[in-house]
Amino acid sequence: MIKIEDPKKLCKKLELAKRQLKNAKSREEIMAISNYMYLLDDSISLVSPKIETLTSKNEYLNNKTNEVMDKKYFTHEGKMIRNYILYKEFHENFFERLYRKTNHAMHKIEEDEYSGITDLGEEDFYNIFFEFMNKLGLAKYFDKYVKGKRIYTTKNSFEENTLGYTLYNPITKDSDIFITGLEYDIFSMFTLAHEFGHIYDLNNFDESIENYNGYFYKSFNGEAISKTFERLFLDFLIENNILVDEAKDQMFDMININYEYILASYIISLIPDILLIDDSYLELSPTKLYKLVERYFSKKNHVRKFINICSDFELKETYTYAYGDVYSLFLRDRIKQDNYSLDSLKEFFEFRSELFNPEMLEKLGIDSKSYVKLYKKDIELLKK
Ligand SMILES: [Zn+2]
Repeated sequence: MIKIEDPKKLCKKLELAKRQLKNAKSREEIMAISNYMYLLDDSISLVSPKIETLTSKNEYLNNKTNEVMDKKYFTHEGKMIRNYILYKEFHENFFERLYRKTNHAMHKIEEDEYSGITDLGEEDFYNIFFEFMNKLGLAKYFDKYVKGKRIYTTKNSFEENTLGYTLYNPITKDSDIFITGLEYDIFSMFTLAHEFGHIYDLNNFDESIENYNGYFYKSFNGEAISKTFERLFLDFLIENNILVDEAKDQMFDMININYEYILASYIISLIPDILLIDDSYLELSPTKLYKLVERYFSKKNHVRKFINICSDFELKETYTYAYGDVYSLFLRDRIKQDNYSLDSLKEFFEFRSELFNPEMLEKLGIDSKSYVKLYKKDIELLKK
């Protein structure tokens, strides 16, 4: 287990955020800062349970702040869901095609035995990761976060299935990375690559606080860059002959997880609007949910099993990861054609905080046919 960075630094950040909240100039600012504080407060107690956070939640989330949060959150969420229903048919067609075509390709790969996991030791771990960041022209980020000790870890796991996350103060643009049980191996490096995608994404966010909130609560674009970094990282390992078998195993898992988000997105698109508007579909038992969508599938057992094991069909999250996968396949391709220059991300940055619109995909040349083509290239790579 890797040593834990000094969590007292985080307490100071919490104090600063508390002052920012007092001086907040708008409801959007209140929303953005209190959300950051809420997550930071939780993170401090996870990273270092002994420290009592300087501000108790009740103190800063007073009635007024709570009211603003509720109201703002629900307006953002309301806009997101109305927009979703507007383009529901588009989502349905799009994810149906991806599901049908990729389902087929995936089953062709034999599931080999997994290679062992190499324990790299601290030096190799950071050397490899530095080379990757340097290749992307991001050595300064490596210095700032790795050498600057802004990566925190804990044995306690964060929220269910969360391997890592990034906390970002939208006023000071300061951020820290949190990774569950960091070890010097490919898993932690992969998670780190994902989180550095968020860091790069957020550090290139020059828009208003309102757009910042929109990005997180209304758009499906929040995981596009982080997932692009995941793919770039695995390609980097394979191309440089570093941990190749492990990188391929990791890629297999990544494709599997992405496939689950695509299937879940398709399933959600088949649920009647009325159950989506008020989230009441989330209360349905797996059997009832299955009954709603059963008639759209021929391979029924597979879908029934999936609905039984998939514990969460939360719309915003599912679509953010599914479109994150879609974007990442294309963005990664462009970046590599550009010899690992990140310039082509600028195009995506121009519209990332907007509500979903099929034109966003068009602008980047994304359609289901090209997706399947790029997807199959990866599958070929996986055949050992
Ligand atoms: Zn992420």
